Parts: sequence; structure tokens; C-alpha cells
Amino acid sequence: MRDGPLRRAVKRVARWSFDVNLGALRALRRARGERPYALGGACRQSGCCCEAPGIRVGRLVWSLASLRRAFLWWQERVNGFVLVRRDPRARVFVFRCTHFDPATRSCDSYESRPGICRDYPRTLMWQPYPELLSRCGFRPVAPNSAALRAALAGRELTTEQRRRLAAGLRLEE
Ligand code: SF4
Ligand code: SF4
Repeated sequence: MRDGPLRRAVKRVARWSFDVNLGALRALRRARGERPYALGGACRQSGCCCEAPGIRVGRLVWSLASLRRAFLWWQERVNGFVLVRRDPRARVFVFRCTHFDPATRSCDSYESRPGICRDYPRTLMWQPYPELLSRCGFRPVAPNSAALRAALAGRELTTEQRRRLAAGLRLEE
């Protein structure tokens, strides 16, 4: 169901908080020397990431019933995410989004979509070897891709070997 004015206002505040927290967390990770993959390609508007949005939570939210209930209440009542399943190994809740129309592959409240939807798939770029959905138009690009490309340029390789290495090492921009 399309967001009304009240829900849009609440989500605007939540998004501000999400952006501040995420910015601080990523700044901290960069300060520790972590380097994410860059984001290559572009969104093809496939809608695949809306089919089963997943949210990874911290240990406290996962294990404390009161926090977990509050989290799931918020996801359902504010974001329109209905819980479908849990992945305990990754501490991920997987949802069905009530804003997603599978027929048109579109979001009925795109302007007020939550932060995780806006951020996707940037969060995956912090993983050791990001795997995106097969129909996603984005792709991860290794943080040291320029140096690796230069190193490969000096090697005697067939076109196919070069292509495979570039794909496996995530060098394609
Ligand atoms: S809120 Fe919109 S963008 Fe986010 S998962 Fe649902 S349909 Fe997709
Ligand atoms: S899966 Fe990728 S290409 Fe498709 S809508 Fe999501 S971000 Fe865009």
C-alpha cells in the first residue's frame, strides 16, 4: 500500500538517522584501513532486489526478544516489510515487501523507500568477495583494480585468459 503523508514523514526521519549511522560506521571502517569494492555498472531497474529484501541485524537485536519484536514491528508497520524467514547463521531477516508490485516490477512508494533500499547494493561492497543478484546491473570493482590491470597488461595471456582474470579479480568497471 502506498505511503501516506504520516508514514512518509516518519520514514524521512528514519532515513536521516540511517544515513548518519551508516556514514559514521563506514568512516570508522575506512579509518581502520578497510577498503570496499567500488560500485561499477548501473541500476537496470530489474526490481530483483525488491523480491526478498534481507536485513542483517546485530547480536542484541537477534537474541533479545523485546528488541527483535520492536525491530520487526518497525519493519512491518513503517517499511511495509513482512517477515518471511530467518537465516540464523547470517543473522538476517528476509522479508516480503508490500510496496513491490511483481507484475510491473516497481515500488509504489519509491520516493519514501527506506535507507536500505537506497543503499543497495553498496553494503555488499564491503564483503570480501561480493556476489550480486544475477540480473543486477551493478558490479563490484576491486579497490586496487588499476594496479592489477597494469600488472596484467604486461603478461603474455590469451584474450580468454585475460577476460577470465579480469572477471574473477573484479577488474571490470
Ligand atoms: S520499499 Fe520499494 S525499493 Fe524498497 S524493497 Fe520495497 S519495493 Fe523495493
Ligand atoms: S537488482 Fe540491481 S539492477 Fe535490479 S533494481 Fe536492484 S539495484 Fe537495480
